[in-house]
Amino acid sequence: MLSVTEYDTIAAISTPPGEGAISIVRLSGEDAIKIANQVFRGKNLTKVASHTIHYGHIIDPTTKQELDEVMASVMRTPKTFTREDIVEINCHGGIVPTNKILQLLLANGARLAEPGEFTKRAFLNGRIDLTQAESVMDLIRAKTDRSMQVALNQLDGNLQHLIHHLRQDISDVLVQVEVNIDYPEYDEDEVTAKLLMEKAIEVKARIQQLLATAQQGKILRDGLATAIIGRPNVGKSSLLNYLLQEDKAIVTDVAGTTRDVLEEYVNVQGVPLKLIDTAGIHETDDKVEKIGVERSKKALSGADLIILVLDASEPLTAEDRELLEMTREQKRIIILNKSDLPQKISPEQLARLGVTEDPIVASVKDNQGIAAVEQEIKTLFFGGIENRQQDVLVSNNRQIGLLEQAEVALDSVISGLNANMPIDLVQIDMTTCWEKLGEITGENAPDELITQLFSQFCLGK
Ligand code: GDP
Ligand code: ZN
Repeated sequence: MLSVTEYDTIAAISTPPGEGAISIVRLSGEDAIKIANQVFRGKNLTKVASHTIHYGHIIDPTTKQELDEVMASVMRTPKTFTREDIVEINCHGGIVPTNKILQLLLANGARLAEPGEFTKRAFLNGRIDLTQAESVMDLIRAKTDRSMQVALNQLDGNLQHLIHHLRQDISDVLVQVEVNIDYPEYDEDEVTAKLLMEKAIEVKARIQQLLATAQQGKILRDGLATAIIGRPNVGKSSLLNYLLQEDKAIVTDVAGTTRDVLEEYVNVQGVPLKLIDTAGIHETDDKVEKIGVERSKKALSGADLIILVLDASEPLTAEDRELLEMTREQKRIIILNKSDLPQKISPEQLARLGVTEDPIVASVKDNQGIAAVEQEIKTLFFGGIENRQQDVLVSNNRQIGLLEQAEVALDSVISGLNANMPIDLVQIDMTTCWEKLGEITGENAPDELITQLFSQFCLGK
């Protein structure tokens, strides 16, 4: 484990780029207060009490030029986000003044923070564990209230405590096993084997409980990849526009990639839908020749949920049948749209074609039946768990992967004991389980992993 206690002082703009009412430049490290004070005209920041905020001006000490009118918050170690001294300079929003202040701080001894470095320090200084660090990122990207609640639970350390206790239990047993081996008078293999078996079964059950939450956890965190498909003119854009209307649309900026990708999300009853290929839907509107089916095929591959729209005012076409056939194996919602017009397709007709789902009869134009679509999305994904807000949900692939590896190790413990393998071999598998769980919280995580994990954060966090 890393055990560095002294770090240089880092600085970054902690508010999103662009114009705003205020921007915040943040400094953290041993010299944070000293450096801020060098460029601040107002009270002597090195003398002020911790957790106080001060009015003043940022002045370039070499040119004596005044850069901005600011409020500077001074927070001394250890009760800060990073557990280091922190100064936050609230300046007037705007790209140029904010960047000038940052440049000035860099010229006076601070180093530009790497993405996620503030949070990384909070982790390295022992204020938070890895699951909490990850939840900071999840919180920033939370798409619905529920997603936020899950991230907050994790930030509170609920997952950390759970894992921590599992590890404690395992190490208690391992210590006991060690004692039994070291003192031959107690060396009753049978007793030792029983102890290990009981613990392995118990921990395995708890890991399985956690893994069972993963599907919902992942949907809340990453969104449910959803494709709205159907041949031209059935009402896809109308449905999309309905879903995107008002404050339901969430456009997130996916950081950490070389090119920022914009993803469109809609919040449907707490389920964040990540809409796939909406560009495709928008685009085809303008084209004389619409390429409905071809485009739909492409969107299908990455989707967790298909919303297949049919125009019930026209007889079922060959294209419709093809789409019904293509999506047979996928989780889907079938909408019989344009119910305001005389109906040429009935639910019974679809059933005769082998469609097992009940289609939803709707008129997007008249706003009829869409509530049923939203309700269906919600029940499809949150069936039993929607009210259990306090649950610990595992939500990211790293955590899921490690839990699975821990479970595999426990399976080896169990099968080894059943096969009467020597206790010291079984002990190794139990130790592996303990290590894998430790990687989840970071108590036992390799440095590269930590570096890689924090590099996914946005700048200034
Ligand atoms: P897309 O090509 O599948 O995206 O279909 P659009 O959403 O662009 O809709 C095609 C046409 O159908 C437009 O003129 C819409 O106004 C119309 N439309 C969409 N939904 C309904 C509906 O429920 N009833 C009726 N009567 N017309 C609809
Ligand atoms: Zn359209």
